[in-house]
Amino acid sequence: MEQEKSYSGSCFCGAVRFTVSGEPAAMGYCHCASCRHWSAGPVNAFTLWKPDAVQITQGAENIGTYNKTPHSYRKWCKTCGGHIFTEHPGLGLFDVYAAVISGFPYSAGVHVHYPESKLRIKDDLPKMKDLPKEMGGSGLTVPQ
Ligand SMILES: [Zn+2]
Ligand SMILES: [Zn+2]
Repeated sequence: MEQEKSYSGSCFCGAVRFTVSGEPAAMGYCHCASCRHWSAGPVNAFTLWKPDAVQITQGAENIGTYNKTPHSYRKWCKTCGGHIFTEHPGLGLFDVYAAVISGFPYSAGVHVHYPESKLRIKDDLPKMKDLPKEMGGSGLTVPQ
């Protein structure tokens, strides 16, 4: 049997630790206003995983959750406030922030919600008006 690749990650202080296993369903950058406001950063680098690919290995009781909408349940460490991941129940996927997985070979394939961008990125990857069709969006692209 082929051994699945596995990567470990943690919150900023290390109280919460987790692993992700296998291959992500998608990777990219989200430019939406909600990600920007919550993260206090201009762009969110995401990796999307099936829920069973994400295992909390330490500090599960230390994870806080906030959902402003039914689409996104945002998770952070109650000790350091560091962001960990966001559950998207409608998509059936977890968005684990690329920045909190150590050593992960992040490689973006798409930019989503690009019309909301405050930081244009001219990397010639597709720029979606909202989301790809397979993620419930229009599948339309916009100029970068
Ligand atoms: Zn922490
Ligand atoms: Zn977003």
